[in-house]
Amino acid sequence: MRRPFIAANWKMNKTIPETKGFVNEFILAVKDVASTDIVIAPPFTSLSTASELIRGTGIKLAAQDVFYEEKGAFTGEISPVMLLDSGCSYVIIGHSERRQYFGESDEIINKKIKASRKNALGVIFCIGESLEQREAGKTFDVLKQEIENGLRDVVMENIVIAYEPIWAIGTGRTASPEQAQEAHAYIRSRLRVLYGNKSEEICIIYGGSATPENIDSLMACPDVDGALVGGASLKPESFTRIVRFRKAEGK
Ligand code: PEP
Repeated sequence: MRRPFIAANWKMNKTIPETKGFVNEFILAVKDVASTDIVIAPPFTSLSTASELIRGTGIKLAAQDVFYEEKGAFTGEISPVMLLDSGCSYVIIGHSERRQYFGESDEIINKKIKASRKNALGVIFCIGESLEQREAGKTFDVLKQEIENGLRDVVMENIVIAYEPIWAIGTGRTASPEQAQEAHAYIRSRLRVLYGNKSEEICIIYGGSATPENIDSLMACPDVDGALVGGASLKPESFTRIVRFRKAEGK
C-alpha cells in the first residue's frame, strides 16, 4: 500500500518571517492528519527555521536542489550532508525550472540523485514533457528517457517520482485526471522494467497547477499517489485543503 505523499515547492518565495508565519499556522491546521506524508520545500535560507518549527510534528522538510559533490571549491553550492544538517529528509531533483533555466542535464540529475541517496537523503525526482513534445506525440519517449537516464545505476529506495508536465506548471492549465493517470501508469510500467515488483511500492506524484479544486479528482486516479504543489502551497489554507484531499471510494 502506497501512502499519499503531498509536497509543497515554494520555489524562490518566502523570507524567514514569512516562513515562520506559514509553518506556525499550517502545523495547527494539519495536526490530526496521520495518513499522508506531508513535505515542505522552502528556499535554502528558511530551511533551518522551518526545521526547528516542525520538530516533533510529522511534517518533513525538503530542499529544492542539491549539488553532487560532498564539499570543496564549488562556490554557491550546497551538498547532501549540508541539507541533512539543516534538517532535510528530502531534496527535489530535476525540476523543469532547473533543467530549463540552469541547464541541468539528465547526467547532472543522475549524479545528484546518486549523491543524495549515498547520504541517505530522500529524493523527489521530477520528470515531464513540454507542450511541444506532447503535441508531437513524444510524451512517452521523453518520460522513458528521463527515467532511464536519471535513474541509471540508482538503487530504488526512498525515491518519489514527480510527474510534472511542463505545460501545466504555473500555468493554471492542469492535466486532466485521464492525462495524469495515463502518464503515471506509463511511468509505473517503465519502473517495473527497471525494478520489477518494487515498482508497485513507488510513489508517483503529480505536479502542475494542482489546487484545492482539482486535487480530489487527481487523487482518485489509481496511479496518482500524491502531489507536488507550487503556487497553491504558498497559502496555509489552500495547501491544507490539498493535504486534506477527499479520498475516493476504494482507494
Ligand atoms: C512545481 O513547480 O513543482 C509546480 C507544480 O508548480 P505549480 O503548482 O505552481 O504549477
